Amino acid sequence: MHLALEALGIGAGDEVITTPHTFTATAEVIRYLGAHPVFVDIDQNTLNIDPLRIESAITPRTKAIIPVHFAGLACDMDPIMAIAKKYGLKIVEDAAHSLPTTYHGKLVGTLETDATVYSFYVTKTIATGEGGMIVLRDAEIAKRCRVMRLHGINRDVFNRYTATKPSWHYEVVAPGFKYNMTDVAASLGIHQLKKARAFQKRRTEMAAYYDEAFSDLPVTLPPKAQEYDLHAWHLYIVRLKPEVSISRDRFIELMAEKGIGCSVHFIPLHLHPYWRDTYNLKPQDFPNALAVYERAVSLPLYTKMTEKDQVRVVEAVREIVLGGGS
Ligand SMILES: *Cc1c(COP(=O)(O)O)cnc(C)c1O
Repeated sequence: MHLALEALGIGAGDEVITTPHTFTATAEVIRYLGAHPVFVDIDQNTLNIDPLRIESAITPRTKAIIPVHFAGLACDMDPIMAIAKKYGLKIVEDAAHSLPTTYHGKLVGTLETDATVYSFYVTKTIATGEGGMIVLRDAEIAKRCRVMRLHGINRDVFNRYTATKPSWHYEVVAPGFKYNMTDVAASLGIHQLKKARAFQKRRTEMAAYYDEAFSDLPVTLPPKAQEYDLHAWHLYIVRLKPEVSISRDRFIELMAEKGIGCSVHFIPLHLHPYWRDTYNLKPQDFPNALAVYERAVSLPLYTKMTEKDQVRVVEAVREIVLGGGS
């Protein structure tokens, strides 16, 4: 995302609109360039950035929008793309959760945006240990990313058939980074990529199983994609309703006592010291992100999970939610 924003010309003093309901990576890359994130609250139903709130966050300094397809559900991209067009803004999609996800039948990565960036970190839907992928539309932007990902070296001179310079010759054209993926990671990725759709199918089945098993409980189930669209189901998040007598934190403790690890995605950025203090943010500045955070639990969901594992999670959740804790 840093490479993509750099290649798109985002620089010092610019503003980039994004969601507080994300991992810090989404916003930190904006700071790497001396630009500033401007947070826009989420829609409590989709958990994605609320397109209706974006326009009022735009200033003369706004240069880009980073929508995050949270948990693997596509953002409502039509209004976001329309706003970007109207104000001449770039769009860099944070697709760390969304391989594969579709929006109105089109794969995320093929929409009319400037860049789509995937993560293949170990927890994501496909994994290479560390690494990621940028999908770009514009050949010049792609060229800039290729140069900047490896020390600002212009690789064009390496073509031994067309180069007029000797093979050892190269040119440094910018102070680049070392953001190359290792060959070992890439070889894992080639094979993982072939399995992406099968993983997604399995995750969808597991999500449906949870939905069914929790349908009578006082919990808000995760938002769904349109029936014709793919949800990557990177995360399965339930929200405890107010009538559940125990807190979210207590719920996670009780699950842990039963040997089941749960998590929270994410502590909204505006609650973290760096973002809070740098931009003088208050918890209530993003009431939807805050409310979701306080009641959300990510339940175990991984492709190697067996039916028995899932039954165990379901029984534990039902017992804790219905029993009210102890
Ligand atoms: C994991 C994640 C990232 C960062 O991915 P890395 O490959 O670990 O740098 C970015 N955005 C979101 C929303 C993520 O969950």
